[in-house]
Amino acid sequence: MNYSDTYYTARWWSVLPDSQEKIQCLLCPHKCLMKPGQSGICNVRKNIGGVLYSISYGHPVAMQIDPIEKKPLYHFYPGESIFSIGTFGCNLSCDFCQNWNMSQTGYDNNKLPVYYSPQDIIMSCKQSDLHLIAFTYNEPVVFSEYMTDIAEQACLEGIKTVAVTNGYICPEVLPEVFSRIDAFNIDLKGFSDSFYRKYTGSSFDPVQKTMITLRNMGKHIELTTLLIPGLNDSEEELKKEFEWICTMLGNHTPLHLSAFYPGYKRLHHPSTKRESLFRAKELAMESGLYYVYIGNIHDVDNSTYCPDCHALLVNRQHYQGRLEKEGFCRCGRLIDIINDKL
Ligand code: SF4
Ligand SMILES: [Zn+2]
Repeated sequence: MNYSDTYYTARWWSVLPDSQEKIQCLLCPHKCLMKPGQSGICNVRKNIGGVLYSISYGHPVAMQIDPIEKKPLYHFYPGESIFSIGTFGCNLSCDFCQNWNMSQTGYDNNKLPVYYSPQDIIMSCKQSDLHLIAFTYNEPVVFSEYMTDIAEQACLEGIKTVAVTNGYICPEVLPEVFSRIDAFNIDLKGFSDSFYRKYTGSSFDPVQKTMITLRNMGKHIELTTLLIPGLNDSEEELKKEFEWICTMLGNHTPLHLSAFYPGYKRLHHPSTKRESLFRAKELAMESGLYYVYIGNIHDVDNSTYCPDCHALLVNRQHYQGRLEKEGFCRCGRLIDIINDKL
């Protein structure tokens, strides 16, 4: 079998000297070492005969049209639909994963799903009359080659792209991987290295670096924190997180505080109480954040208001946003929403 006909050769790896085909993936901070036949932690990058292949390239396992508010992105083309794709695999192993059936699964190498080239994805997006594509559902860093190839084509066609990511990527490759992506929702899972190490199988420092780098690259960033009772929701930890966001990324960074529901390896863990979400939102706003939203529960006011005069800017109901104002607010403040139509 000629593997180069079946799988896409990965980028961002090297052969270790004197190692008999042992290779190292350089994409995320795990920097997995793989002997021939072995896969990395993400389950979708594999050493076959001394070459690293990206198994998921061209093989999305989820492809659908969602409201952009479901990513969630509230300040980037509110009210629009976005063509969304995801594959199998993730470089983290969170025991509380809310999408584990995609993230913690690998491909059956004897039966790969239908192949969609980057051009096929662009065509499907255009046929649906959309101008937005999201890399979402699982961690897009693990299919970076596919994501960057689609994003490059998208750029040429005037299509904007979004990555919903955990931000766990090597700083050396980040600019190349993310340069063509327009907007990000970064899953900020907690605010301590001990949390990241104990519950996600990763470390905190690279995620912080990612957020700062993307901000410095001028990208649109929104953050999501899933509040897991007793694990990452102490007032002390939350305040640290909110203050850090204000200082390092700016008060205008939208933050989504999301409710946890039991699942995967935490089937018996209690779900997040409504009052904890509201208390966390209060703390975030006291810390100085302008736009804080509550996700995964019903009957919440998630509209966007002007931080200065409290005018309604985006009326948002059930993950569907409607812009009430564009450009400048009635008080003269520039509205923190990207909505330049093509
Ligand atoms: S992307 Fe996958 S194979 Fe590469 S270092 Fe990260 S977990 Fe390992
Ligand atoms: Zn105003």
